[in-house]
Order: sequence, then structure tokens, then C-alpha cells
Amino acid sequence: MTGAVGFGVFSVDGDEPRVGFRVGRGVLDLAANGLGAVFEAPTLNPFLALGRSSWEDTVARIQELVPAGADLVPLEDASVELPLAVADYVDFYSSLEHATNLGRLFRPDTDPLLPNWRHLPVAYHGRAGTVVVSGTPIVRPSGQTKGPADDAPHFGPSGRLDIELELGFVVGVGSSLGEPVPTSAFRDHVFGVVLVNDWSARDIQAWEYQPLGPFLGKSFATSIGAWVTPLALLEDRFVSSPGQDPEPLPYLRTSGDWALDVELEVELSGTVVSRTNACGLYWTMPQQLAHATVNGAAIRTGDLFASGTISGPEHGSEGSFIELTSNGEHPIGLADGSTRTFLEDDDEVVLRGRAGELELAEVRGRILPARVSS
Ligand code: CA
Repeated sequence: MTGAVGFGVFSVDGDEPRVGFRVGRGVLDLAANGLGAVFEAPTLNPFLALGRSSWEDTVARIQELVPAGADLVPLEDASVELPLAVADYVDFYSSLEHATNLGRLFRPDTDPLLPNWRHLPVAYHGRAGTVVVSGTPIVRPSGQTKGPADDAPHFGPSGRLDIELELGFVVGVGSSLGEPVPTSAFRDHVFGVVLVNDWSARDIQAWEYQPLGPFLGKSFATSIGAWVTPLALLEDRFVSSPGQDPEPLPYLRTSGDWALDVELEVELSGTVVSRTNACGLYWTMPQQLAHATVNGAAIRTGDLFASGTISGPEHGSEGSFIELTSNGEHPIGLADGSTRTFLEDDDEVVLRGRAGELELAEVRGRILPARVSS
């Protein structure tokens, strides 16, 4: 198989939404091809809950059916929906380069990394109910902001609307309350990955975030790809991670290769403005899951965990506009001759990921004007 691959939910001509497998420019209707009634559901969740052997059996069946010439629904005839009912959503902060870049911007006179950063995968709980599928328009959020020179906060549309290029993983099999999920059990719980755009209103975020972290500057929308790519199709893309220095506590140690070699790019209104790779992340997915559950917090089918913004070390490999433009000081040029610092109304952002011959489903979103101005 080549091109974009993954499991999602689709319908044709307004019929009942059901689970399909996208391969390139076509969709395999799984229930209609005899893979099971679980695929008649309007979300991936019942399939996700079945567990690793069912996931791998299904992928193996698909790998027989597709080359044998199974009928595919043309992608342009398929309407897609959010592929899963998102249970909980957690967003990490696992790129050393991103955390360093933002630390320099927000706290210029101190060490850019806070003391905990190299010892644990920092994260916050996001809003599962506003995770949306690729293609959903994004309304510019309004909120409270207060610039450094302002005497008092004011209310209005965000003037510093940004993106965050991220890779997320989706939980299939949950865990029991009180029982941590060790790094070694990652593949027993996690089904696959999606690209994530964690839309961020930097001006709202900057005023609200201390001391409890992101809230309204993030919760207005988070976009994910329409098709979840199973780990079973990405086995040859796992490479060694940069590792951690100092060595983390025992519950965060892993064996084997856990960095995912996925080439990533950000396109803004027709111009590619950033290219990077997910394999450079400091903390890996099993470490993120082990940390999120080490206190006994249970995970559930449909949980979404995102990596945090993925930025590389060179200019042009940053995963957000606040980094690409040095906090708005150095605009970037687009192919049509215009320049941008942060997003303008009608701008469209597309995130793409390539893993060798395969692609992760793109994440696309266009900015609509604010609906609340005062
Ligand atoms: Ca984020």
C-alpha cells in the first residue's frame, strides 16, 4: 500500500456513517467487505476496544483485500466525520527545541527550561469535546488579553492566532483505576497515530496561563486527521530516540526504538513554511503514557494524547508561527508576495506527515472571522 492510510468514519450520499479504511484516494468499506459488524458503528471506538490481536488481524485482512482489487469508494465521494469519540485529551510539551524556544520568548532572563522539564514529560489536560476533524472551519476566538504596556485587560478577537504541529496517539484498550501502564505495555493499549493541530491564541494564552496552564487560549478547537494510522502499519518507522539526559526515573525508562520517523510539513495558504521530523522528540510515546498513568489514573478507549509542538533545531523547522516569526518580529513570506506573523481570517493551514511510502492523513483548517468582538 502507498499514500495516506488509516481507519476513519465516512458516509456516501447521506447514508449511515460507518468505519472505513482509507488507502490513497479510496476508502474500503469494512463492514460491506465482511470484516465484521463492529465496523457498522459511527465511530472507531467499538473496534478500538477489541484490542491488539483484533487490530492486527484486521490490518492483515486489509493487506490481502486491497492488493486483490477490492472495490474502493472514491475519496471524493466520501464525507468524513470525526473518526472517534474522544474520551480524554492530554497535550504534552515534549520537544526540547520547542520548549527552549518558548522559554526564551516568555522568560528571556532565565533558563529557558523549567527545572522539571528534563525529568518528566510536562503536559496539561485539554478539552476533548472541541477536538474536530480535519476540514472543520476554525472560528477566530475572542477573549481577554492584556499586553505588557496595557493598564488593564480588554476583550476582543485574538490578534495572535497560531498553530501547533503535533503527532497524537489514540488509546484502544483502557486500564484500571489505580494501575499504572508501564512503558512495556504501550502496544497493548495504543492503536495508532494522527496528526494534530493544537490551535493556540497566544495573546489569550499569555494573559491567562499562570499559574494553572492553558485554558481558553487552547480549548476553542483542536483539529485531528480524519484517518487514524495503526501502529501495525508503522513498525518499520520506529527508530532510536535522541534519549534523555539525565537518565529518567525507572518508570520512564524504555527498551527498543520508540521515536517515530515521520517527515512533517506545515503549509500556510499554499506555501510550505516549515519542515521537520517527529523522530527528534525528547520524550517518546510510551514515556508519555507511562507518566500520564503513573499515579494510577486510568485511561479509556478513545483517549487522545498529543506530543506537543514539534520543532527542529534549524530555522524553518519550527512547528508554530510564534517560533517561525520570533514572536511576530520577523514575518514570513508567502508565495503570493504577502507576509504573515500570525494567522489572518481566511488563511488555511495544512499539516502533512510522510512515513516512507505511507502518509498520515492531512489536517486542514481555514480561519473564519470572530463572531464575538466586544
Ligand atoms: Ca500544544
